[in-house]
Amino acid sequence: MKKDSLLIHGGVGIDDVTGAVNIPIYQTSTYRQFGIGERGEYEYSRSGNPTRDALEKLIANLEYGKHGFAFASGLAAITAVLSIFKSGDKILINNNLYGGTFRLIDKVFSNFGITYDIFDSYEDIKKKIDSSVKAIYVETPTNPLLDVVDIRKVSKFTKEKDIYLIVDNTFMSPYFQNPLKLGADIVIHSATKYLGGHSDLIAGLAVVNDDGLGEKIKFIQNSTGGILQPFDSFLLIRGIRTLGLRMIKHEENAKFLAKKLEENKYIEKVYYVGLESHEGHEIQKAQTSGFGSIISFKLDNRVNYRKFIKNLRFIIFGESLGGIESLMCHPVTMTHAAIPKELREKAGITENLFRLSVGIEDKEDLLEDIEKALEGALR
Ligand SMILES: *Cc1c(COP(=O)(O)O)cnc(C)c1O
Repeated sequence: MKKDSLLIHGGVGIDDVTGAVNIPIYQTSTYRQFGIGERGEYEYSRSGNPTRDALEKLIANLEYGKHGFAFASGLAAITAVLSIFKSGDKILINNNLYGGTFRLIDKVFSNFGITYDIFDSYEDIKKKIDSSVKAIYVETPTNPLLDVVDIRKVSKFTKEKDIYLIVDNTFMSPYFQNPLKLGADIVIHSATKYLGGHSDLIAGLAVVNDDGLGEKIKFIQNSTGGILQPFDSFLLIRGIRTLGLRMIKHEENAKFLAKKLEENKYIEKVYYVGLESHEGHEIQKAQTSGFGSIISFKLDNRVNYRKFIKNLRFIIFGESLGGIESLMCHPVTMTHAAIPKELREKAGITENLFRLSVGIEDKEDLLEDIEKALEGALR
């Protein structure tokens, strides 16, 4: 099945008993057992729930993997995945990761003796690898500067070294990019973003192909308990059904806006992987079928940033991304505040940087909102 059909028919099909075209919300914590040692497929909803199962099968289908797992948030998914490592293991991460992921690795997993090092290029990975490195963890494109990592190239290297490649695929969604197909071992999503798509739930997903790895994550999911609830699983499935339509419109709007913002005299620099001027554009084209809708830009010092934000009429100033509504964020004070200033500036995350998650509104309206907000904010 092609992806547009998988979005609708992937995972669990029509209920044989009632003919319902949607999976019911199995709002139950436990299940009757038939006798001692005689139980059905389910025993307790932390271990398994039919609604969550349907979602887990759907995301596995969409990422071309065998085993899917649903968690209470993107960070719960990342926590579960990183729990496969043990004290003494080191993880290489790419620079400008999502701030919350960085905080988790830097402040929580470090308490358990799992260390990390940051790389900023493929050559740098080769310099920083040693026998304690057990995985390379990347986001591509990165948040918020949209650096592109060549997944095929890095996966050749991780296979050679017999270590894992973990890819956070939140920005592209499975509609545009499938890391497992490109050689990654584990793919992670903050499903709060494009997959859910409506800014109405927090959820995380992980998918793997390898059976052994699948068993490990299943064991951790059940042992640590950060599972997604049945109602949220249902909502997420509902969101995923329209992922294709949304991604196409998100991207059409983003391409239009990125070009216009690049021409705007009050904008110093625009970062968007769909622009030919973007450093990672060619690699992006080779490994994805789209460019997504995250645009970052740096404002010229003639603009009063605070005023610019206040002037926006309907583009919402707030955290998160990937919803149908356009969202503007200020990484330094919001998503990336957990990253020490020095590291942040080294990565290019400066005070004048803004990140726009382009929604599916009318593109001319979006442009007008930004242009007017800029013009009204000149010093
Ligand atoms: C939001 C986000 C996360 C964290 O996900 P939550 O659902 O907020 O826990 C992880 N990675 C990326 C790239 C994100 O944008």
